[in-house]
Formats: sequence, structure tokens, C-alpha cells
Amino acid sequence: NLYNMVQDLKGNIRVYCRIRPVLNPEEQDVIDFIGENGSLVVIDPKPLKDEKKFFQFNRVFGPTATQDEVYRDTQPLVRSVMDGYNVCIFAYGQTGSGKTYTMLGPPGGSAKNLGISYLALNELFELSDQRKDITKYDIQVQMVEIHNEQVHDLLAKDLGTNKLEIRSCASNNGMALPDATLHPVRSTVDVVNLMKLGQENRAVGSTAINIRSSRSHSILSVHVHGEDASGSLFRSCLHLVDLAGSERVDKSEVTGDGLQEAQNINKSLACLIDVITALAQKNSHIPYRNSKLTLLLQNSLGGNAKTLMLAHVNPEGDSFEETMSTLKFAQRVS
Ligand code: ADP
Ligand code: MG
Repeated sequence: NLYNMVQDLKGNIRVYCRIRPVLNPEEQDVIDFIGENGSLVVIDPKPLKDEKKFFQFNRVFGPTATQDEVYRDTQPLVRSVMDGYNVCIFAYGQTGSGKTYTMLGPPGGSAKNLGISYLALNELFELSDQRKDITKYDIQVQMVEIHNEQVHDLLAKDLGTNKLEIRSCASNNGMALPDATLHPVRSTVDVVNLMKLGQENRAVGSTAINIRSSRSHSILSVHVHGEDASGSLFRSCLHLVDLAGSERVDKSEVTGDGLQEAQNINKSLACLIDVITALAQKNSHIPYRNSKLTLLLQNSLGGNAKTLMLAHVNPEGDSFEETMSTLKFAQRVS
């Protein structure tokens, strides 16, 4: 279709930027202008510095954009999973910038404003139903967390003790987690229940879920098997990734385990940035093996796979430095 043709010409990485609303009315809003065409102007909030910085992305969503609006521009990628493409959608940004809001929805499991993970799965179920006379689909999900360079199954019973190995897998054409539990899903209700369980499990072993979630990557992997009327088979995968917070962790503020954790976060995000940058520059060597995150996602980054980076911004003045580093990185790969 037309979308795929346009993407083939442009390369397979696209970058959208989403700006959440200002939540602290005491803080200055650094967003100066949002253009229809994906342009963005931010303004340095420091007194006497009236400097404006320009950025350009494939798309920018402002603070009033709805979940449905964000999803509408994600939909073609999601649909292509049912045609056999591997797709990876990342939420990138500092803690508090709205990553989890975009991927899952508002905190507390409200049924309103569900995030793109639900909308995407809903779409897969609908397509599966519409095409049932032509193709028989089987949809299964895994949900894991990468914390401190260790992979944990968020949907397993023996949570906390399990550490999963990433292995190469011929049928998957890449890397897989053969020991992670796979859960067949048939409806959005199934998915809501599983994700609730996963979110609860994510909080195990830490005092507050937001602390843990800012320091780990959570990955919802949707595995699709298709069989058409002639009996030919295909497999594809949609990874929906809520990354660890991209803020630089101040080494002076953490010691011991915390320091190790901080270094691992910095390292795995840096590896992801390296991989995406290498893909964007069409380098011949792509350094997938340098982190668990990039190794696991290898078959949905590069090649025919489609990657969407959703860069998140907290527009409040006191986040300006982190906002600039997020925007600069996002622009570099778009
Ligand atoms: P992160 O996952 O990046 O740490 P969250 O998704 O938890 O950030 O968002 C931080 C806060 O901002 C939450 O209270 C969330 O509900 C709110 N928020 C984020 N994005 C939006 C948005 N687009 N509209 C309204 N509230 C939002
Ligand atoms: Mg979060």
C-alpha cells in the first residue's frame, strides 16, 4: 500500500514527539510553537536568555492531543504487523514526561484514555476477525522487564526469582525469550487483565512502582502467527516498549546497588541510541549485542522492520535541560 511505499523511500525509522500538559502551574512552559508539519520551537526559560531552538520531527503532538489522535498516526504500523512486518514502538523520555500515559494510559487503571498498547491490540483483534476467511491468526503476548541488565517475566508465577536468557531462535528469525510465559489473547479484556498483572508484578521488590518503572524497561511483545488459505505461514512481532527514564542519574547521589543500576540504565539507553543512530545512518555494523534491550529487539530494529520512536517532553521550565537532550537525540535519528 501507499504507506509502505512512502516508508520504503524514507527509511524505516520515524520519530514523533509528544508534549504533555504543564502540571505545575508555577513552572514556565518552554514550548513556543508547534507546527502542523512536525516542527517545534522551544524557548530557554532562563532569565535573560530569550533563545529559541527549532526542531523537526515526522509529527508533533501538543498537550491537548488525545490518545486516539496519537494512535491514528501509529495505526498503519500496527496494521502492517498483520501483513508480516516486525514493528517496534518505543516511548522515550525523562521520568514524568508521559511515556506510560502514552503506552498504557493514566495511572490507576482508568478505563478512559487507554493508551496505544490497548488500541493497537484492539486493532489486531479486529483485523483478525475481518480477515478470518482469508487468514487464520494466532495472537500471543509476553511481558518482560529489563532491570539491571536482567530480564524478568512479568507474567510468570515465580516472579522475582526468574531471570530469563535471550537465545537465538530460528523460527523467530532473531532473538527470543524461550522461557518467558506466552499468553494467548483473544480480546482486549484478556489484554487488560494481563497488563494489570504485569504492572502489579513490576512493583514487587521496590517501595514504589514509579521508582522501579523509571529504572527499568518494560516490553510488551505481541507475537502474531498467520496462516493463509493456501497453508503458507508467517510470523511477526510487535514490541511496545516503555523505556527507563532517560534523565542522567547524578553519580554523586547514588551509591552501591543504586550506582550499578544507574550505570546499567545509562548504558542500555546509550546502546539503544547507538543502534538507532547506526540504522538511521545506514551503517554496515549495527551494535545490537551491546545490551539486553537491543539484543532482544534485534529482529524488529532494522531490515524490513519498522521502528517508531515516541519522544516525550515535559514542557515545564525546570526540565529544560533534559528536554533539550531528548529533542536533540530524537531529531538526530528522524
Ligand atoms: P513517565 O512514564 O514518562 O514517567 P507518566 O506517564 O507517568 O510519565 O506521566 C507523568 C504524569 O503526567 C502522570 O500523572 C500522567 O497522568 C500525566 N500525563 C502524562 N502525559 C499526559 C497527557 N498527555 N495528558 C494528561 N496527563 C498526562
Ligand atoms: Mg512511566
